[in-house]
Amino acid sequence: MVGAGEEWNSELYRIATAQFDRAAAVLELDEEARARLREPRRALTVNFPVRLDGGSVVNVTGYRVQHTLTMGPTKGGIRFAPDVSMGECAALAAWMTWKCALLELPYGGAKGGVRCDPTALSDEELERITRRYASELIPIIGPDRDIPAPDMGTGEREMAWFYDTYSQLKGYAVPEIVTGKPAVLGGTAARPSATGLGVVQIAEAACEHLGRRLSDKRVIVQGFGNVGAVVAEELSVRGATILAVSDHTGGIHDERGLDIPAVAAWVAEHGTLTGCPLGAPVGRAEVLELACDILIPAALERQITERNASRLRCEMVLEAANGPTTPGAEAVLAARGITLVPDILANAGGVTVSYFEWVQDQQKLVWETVAIQDRMRRLLRSALDRVVETAERRGVDWRTAALVTAVERVSTAALARAIYP
Ligand code: NAD
Repeated sequence: MVGAGEEWNSELYRIATAQFDRAAAVLELDEEARARLREPRRALTVNFPVRLDGGSVVNVTGYRVQHTLTMGPTKGGIRFAPDVSMGECAALAAWMTWKCALLELPYGGAKGGVRCDPTALSDEELERITRRYASELIPIIGPDRDIPAPDMGTGEREMAWFYDTYSQLKGYAVPEIVTGKPAVLGGTAARPSATGLGVVQIAEAACEHLGRRLSDKRVIVQGFGNVGAVVAEELSVRGATILAVSDHTGGIHDERGLDIPAVAAWVAEHGTLTGCPLGAPVGRAEVLELACDILIPAALERQITERNASRLRCEMVLEAANGPTTPGAEAVLAARGITLVPDILANAGGVTVSYFEWVQDQQKLVWETVAIQDRMRRLLRSALDRVVETAERRGVDWRTAALVTAVERVSTAALARAIYP
């Protein structure tokens, strides 16, 4: 017999569940709340035909998982990647629930994905996939039900196609169906940089809290996409030294600090860091083990593992990516006195500005970029303060403190709403 929750079993989901169990134990959460929050409420698998440019037809599989329906509509990104699975989406949806709760946003968590390799598809093929996927999700999404956003492999362009498809099917424009749209379609100018900027605002606040100055810090950033490139740019603007950056093809390293605008210009022209003459080449794995003050994984999950945790030479790991550190690695880092700033806090800037975008679209009102960034900074700082206060009061690490704060909020809401019928 298949056990409850087997549908979303995956290594990432087991990590997310182990984290939840740790927070539940600290809170001494009762069995009812555990049962109601541990597993996703809803998951949809879609499998649809797509015509490739050559005329042939392939089946493409996609998912949407909604973790909790207690807090309001669900919210979470859409990922286009070759190894997307329902288990991965389930883990990422749970983390979205905790992230939104930590920031006190009126959402539950969701996550979606399409199993495809966007680098191997033409723009036309990607558009057909995005539009068909959007139409397949109609039964469970909506501006008051579930609001997608970009994640790995997707951006403003895909959100514009998604918005257009939903609006065509409804018969009128519904900009609040997705966030992360181009500004001209009701997106905010601040959204593309929001996650990266939020990571940097959290880095600043965490350094202040620990009595250090961000501008003195030597930093390594893994991943040079939506998030990593902005993190590197914003950090260098604030005077930090970026020693190395990497992408899926490899990395570059310069002890004197990289010229990040020049690196960004290279990537804009060539697509990857391969051959970038602005630093010495360094391997994808080695880049994580170079000496620095702050290591920022901003690429994939499970990058810091039991295998490399003992070799990291940093004083802080700031998780810009979702789930980049395995629980085993986290124990090694804690034993070595390395501070870990958890993903649900560090990368929450993206969903925070997404929330502002959704509110603006619903109100048909436009806020100024500066006001959005300032509001995001205040919300992120309050969340960091809550995490630090909980960590000190309960004597736990920052990840546990962040999860405890979030789980406590959602469980209180779930118990107040009780169970229907
Ligand atoms: P992206 O697709 O724009 O960029 C990913 C980057 O990682 C690329 O530079 C890619 O080359 C690099 N990469 C892939 N495999 C790698 C490897 N093995 N080693 C080194 N680099 C590698 O994705 P993104 O939107 O920047 O997302 C990155 C992470 O941040 C993900 O974990 C995502 O879930 C998380 N995140 C993104 C957002 C957002 O707003 N985009 C919000 C919150 C969290």
